[in-house]
Amino acid sequence: MTRRVFRYVPFTIEQDRTAEPEYEARCVSGDETECGAQSGTYRHPGPVEEWQRRHAQETRHLRYRRNFGDYAVMRPPAELAALLSGSGGTV
Ligand SMILES: [Zn+2]
Repeated sequence: MTRRVFRYVPFTIEQDRTAEPEYEARCVSGDETECGAQSGTYRHPGPVEEWQRRHAQETRHLRYRRNFGDYAVMRPPAELAALLSGSGGTV
């Protein structure tokens, strides 16, 4: 049995620009039960805020749960990236 030793690698974390982020909101107004109305998912916060304003105007509901999602990519430091790309040498 071999034991693998993982050394600390100082990855940087970047937003994946090739994948669109997602914005959405859900109405959580209401005393006993939440209203639960949903904005739907959008690529930008603008349409979600507009939906909130419209919903608030129609219902006087003032409290919302907002979700934001995006994708992240781990980037190794330059010297390790060279090793991982297999440009000669063993790790
Ligand atoms: Zn509502």
